Amino acid sequence: MNKSIAIIGAGLSGCNLYNKLSSTYDIKIFEKSRGTGGRCSTKYINNHQINHGTNKITPKSQEFIKFCEDLTSKNILQKQNNEYLPINAINKICKTLIHPNDLITNTRITRYAQENNKWTIYDENQKSHGSFDKLILTIPTPQILEMDIELPHDIKLDLQKVQYNAIGVIMLYSNKPFNINTSDYKYSSYKKFENFYVYTLHLNESISNKLSSKEDLQKYLPNIDSTIKVLYHLWKYALISSTINKDFFYEDNLGISSDYFGKSTNNSLENSYMSSSALAKKIEQ
Ligand SMILES: Cc1cc2nc3c(=O)[nH]c(=O)nc-3n(C[C@H](O)[C@H](O)[C@H](O)COP(=O)(O)OP(=O)(O)OC[C@H]3O[C@@H](n4cnc5c(N)ncnc54)[C@H](O)[C@@H]3O)c2cc1C
Repeated sequence: MNKSIAIIGAGLSGCNLYNKLSSTYDIKIFEKSRGTGGRCSTKYINNHQINHGTNKITPKSQEFIKFCEDLTSKNILQKQNNEYLPINAINKICKTLIHPNDLITNTRITRYAQENNKWTIYDENQKSHGSFDKLILTIPTPQILEMDIELPHDIKLDLQKVQYNAIGVIMLYSNKPFNINTSDYKYSSYKKFENFYVYTLHLNESISNKLSSKEDLQKYLPNIDSTIKVLYHLWKYALISSTINKDFFYEDNLGISSDYFGKSTNNSLENSYMSSSALAKKIEQ
């Protein structure tokens, strides 16, 4: 019988780990939201796919370039100069790496107990989701630190030092074409579908860091006609602004991997890919 692994989080780190280890381990991925993607997130508005997290990939290492090239050959990404852009939904990057039967969605894991060399995991309603030989966390550091889990002192200190910048997102949509002034936003995109038009706007980090909930985004709404519909999203842990200078953490069958492992804060998504690939290699040894 294969050994078992519970992966917490179905963003790029969790799905890449699944992809690299699923031929030798029985794996389940637990995800608190409705599907894969994490911060490579796609929202469905009136059946249209709108990317409201990461919108482009700028790979630097040969290993990550190869990953992006593979996704390009599968028509998930397209290359423009040195960047790769999603053709449709960016969360397909993650979806394509896993088997849907092994993904448990709408399940926020909050507690772990290590008994008889196994990790038993529990959700926020205290329901047990079984025991696993290995446990891997791929979630933002504040979410690890608020869990009921004993961590080695040095890794806890490292996790406590990681810092993030927030990004507030405003999505505006209508069944008629419309125009807005986007100059006050860090990023904007305008997508046209049949009888459906949508702007996605990102506020810059210095404004976003001061917001405490998505309701606070209302005051940054551009001047719009009352027929235009609005959705808000606040990514509190959007981009890392400091990292742990290691590739991953792995000790006593507990692993941690995500964008906060690495040398640079400029390429969060690449950190997630490289950290999870390195952890998968270590587990396979
Ligand atoms: C708006 C925005 C723009 C960005 N732009 C760029 C960019 O241009 N370039 C770049 O390199 N990076 C960018 N990033 C950052 C990049 O998206 C992340 O670094 C990367 O996606 C992180 O992947 P991950 O798998 O490590 O973590 P995540 O994507 O955060 O995945 C963690 C998953 O765990 C789930 N989860 C959390 N807690 C629990 C729990 N208790 N139980 C179960 N599941 C849980 C979450 O729902 C999530 O799906 C951007 C991010 C945002 C939000």
